[in-house]
Amino acid sequence: MTLIDLTPRPSTGLANAHLPIAIIGAGPVGLAAAAHLLRRGLPFEVLEAGDTVAASVRAWGHTRLFSPWRHLVDPVAQELLEAHGWSLDQPDRAPSGAELVAGYLAPLAALPGIAERIRLGVAVTDVAREGMDRTRTRGRAGAPFTVRTLDASGAVADGAYRAVIDASGSWLTPNALASNGLTLPGLAEVADRVLPALPDVLGADRAVFAGRRTTVVGAGHSAANTVIALASLARDEPGATVTWAIRSASPDRVTDAETDGLPGRASLGVRARRAVADGRVTLLDGFETVGARSDGDDVVLVGRRGGSLAEHRTDLVVNATGFRPALDMYREVRLELDEIVEAPRRLAPMIDPNEHSCGTVEPHGYRELAHPEQGLFIVGMKSYGRAPTFLLKTGYEQVRSVVAWLAGDVASALAVELVLPETGVCSTADGGCC
Ligand SMILES: Cc1cc2nc3c(=O)[nH]c(=O)nc-3n(C[C@H](O)[C@H](O)[C@H](O)COP(=O)(O)OP(=O)(O)OC[C@H]3O[C@@H](n4cnc5c(N)ncnc54)[C@H](O)[C@@H]3O)c2cc1C
Repeated sequence: MTLIDLTPRPSTGLANAHLPIAIIGAGPVGLAAAAHLLRRGLPFEVLEAGDTVAASVRAWGHTRLFSPWRHLVDPVAQELLEAHGWSLDQPDRAPSGAELVAGYLAPLAALPGIAERIRLGVAVTDVAREGMDRTRTRGRAGAPFTVRTLDASGAVADGAYRAVIDASGSWLTPNALASNGLTLPGLAEVADRVLPALPDVLGADRAVFAGRRTTVVGAGHSAANTVIALASLARDEPGATVTWAIRSASPDRVTDAETDGLPGRASLGVRARRAVADGRVTLLDGFETVGARSDGDDVVLVGRRGGSLAEHRTDLVVNATGFRPALDMYREVRLELDEIVEAPRRLAPMIDPNEHSCGTVEPHGYRELAHPEQGLFIVGMKSYGRAPTFLLKTGYEQVRSVVAWLAGDVASALAVELVLPETGVCSTADGGCC
């Protein structure tokens, strides 16, 4: 294991204090980081791949969150917004993703001091140290970061930054459909009939699913959410059918309500289990997807089932197999990641989905998020790697601590200022995931 220097002092050196701090991603956590940096008076620039802020939240905007408003707003962002006449009107109601954007994230991004520091339509492709590849050590901690971006016209640009806060989430990098994690053989043949997680089945995408056989692949809460929506659609749309393909023997992880302390998630599980039990959803269990091919209008999924190969025919496939962090951009820097969940090594045991639900993750800050590459932090959803238990409240505490450290306020960086209730952060009945 590489030794991380946890000496409690800002590591990026005053020599680079004139340079801005790069925030990758203008989602809820990236924008919270911007609010904290603004309050601390540190220069920053937000680099957002989408054409709008919160592009990923907008993509699942029709989905209702589990958490009520009071757990979705960063305290410093709230202070800044309130100074401009904003107020948190219904703290106990859980918004949809679209409401979170319209009611909080878009106004936050429009604040003076933040708005002019957001660059839209620039995807970060690489992060390095100026003049140094991964192998060079001497003077490394004092060298500025080089952040490379790509825009829609294909233009590549390098910028110099004092530190990097990566809040780019994992929505844009879904897991593979193949159960071994590799690109599904044959995917190219059927790619036009494979949809990403959480389509708006009962809204904008209704016509896509009406009258069609749909197979949802994946065993998590996003999958359960889509299965329930499709079962509801199938009641009104003749010919629409739903198959739920999972590789385990049963979807216990989401449908075992008695072991889930979170009422919203438990309700989602109960409804999914009921839909299977009353025959509205066909469960294709123990199905390890290994390939796909096109046969006329049919998508044929090939899977290993009970020791032999089986075929399943469908019109559409929804990939709800979860998400993984995009790590290719870090080829030339030194990260220390857990080899299983791909979260920072110190954080990984705290978020193990086998041990923790989203409400039982301990609060954590810069120490748990530190990498051997000093001044580089992965925060927010991406910091949890492949674990699905991330909550915004935890992300807001992460950026509070990281920004305090970058500002040289070691005492504040080390202080833990968050007590997560075991339940109550995920407490509505309409689904979502955490
Ligand atoms: C359906 C659903 C429901 C959820 N419900 C809850 C809930 O109830 N409570 C809760 O606390 N959490 C919930 N979560 C989990 C989590 O809080 C959200 O996923 C949240 O959006 C994560 O915020 P983030 O800022 O870390 O990442 P994101 O919201 O994913 O934002 C990342 C941003 O970075 C941009 N980006 C990505 N790659 C690049 C790049 N290379 N360069 C530049 N920009 C890039 C993206 O376009 C995006 O705007 C839910 C998640 C989902 C999917």
